[in-house]
Amino acid sequence: MNRTANFDFTVVVPIYNEVENMDRLRLRLGAFADGCRMNTCILFVNDGSSDGSLDRLEEICRDNGRFMYIGFDRNYGLTAALKAGIDHTFSKYVGYIDADLQTDPEDFNLLLEHIEKYTMVTGIRAARKDSFFKRFQSKFANGFRRMMTNDGAADTGCPLKVLHTDAAKKLPLFTGMHRFLPALILLQKGGTYLQVPVRHYPRTAGKSKFNMLNRLWGPFADCFAYRWMKKRYIDYSVKNSDFHE
Ligand code: UDP
Ligand code: MG
Repeated sequence: MNRTANFDFTVVVPIYNEVENMDRLRLRLGAFADGCRMNTCILFVNDGSSDGSLDRLEEICRDNGRFMYIGFDRNYGLTAALKAGIDHTFSKYVGYIDADLQTDPEDFNLLLEHIEKYTMVTGIRAARKDSFFKRFQSKFANGFRRMMTNDGAADTGCPLKVLHTDAAKKLPLFTGMHRFLPALILLQKGGTYLQVPVRHYPRTAGKSKFNMLNRLWGPFADCFAYRWMKKRYIDYSVKNSDFHE
């Protein structure tokens, strides 16, 4: 257990060389956590940054009781950062937002409205503010993934999501699998998700960490991994036991 257990909602923020975004994160996430109707904390996951992000993180977490962080010994990638965030969350609900704030933390409120009824509520970037080329790649990847997984999800890459922490902890997360969250949730017995349009902004500071190769080839191969996983997935129900709790 850790301090996230004192909160109802933990927002996981993956950080890889985002020093230019640190002040905005401090202000915007601080304001969101203070104003949210759920008792909220922010868990930063430093994914082996080499640009001084960790020093800034230490500072901002020292100054705000709602902020905390964990840090890796090296860079493991976005899915690993998300998994570590979920593993270290002990509040009822867990959320995810990117450090570049291309989505708006205030829109967590739109997602939280529905979270009691669904296992996961995910944003979809209604008017996406990325280059034509990036949007084209994403449309293509989303279409292929939908065909292969039948997950019905319009925009799995949207960096604004809220999940029940117990369901999130059961997700088999391997590198790249953060793009399959709706499909993975549907594997769970009774697993459901809802999509809600959210605002989207261009990246205004720091650099994107992904390129065409890791945005398209990885997810393409992962579709086959998902289909294998779906066939072999185990989700049992216990009917009888003599445990008395
Ligand atoms: N990120 C990470 N580890 C990595 C690559 C990225 O933790 O190896 C984080 C990054 O700091 C950001 C998020 O993942 O918070 C999404 O990255 P980015 O904005 O570069 O992705 P894009 O929006 O271009 O797809
Ligand atoms: Mg981004």
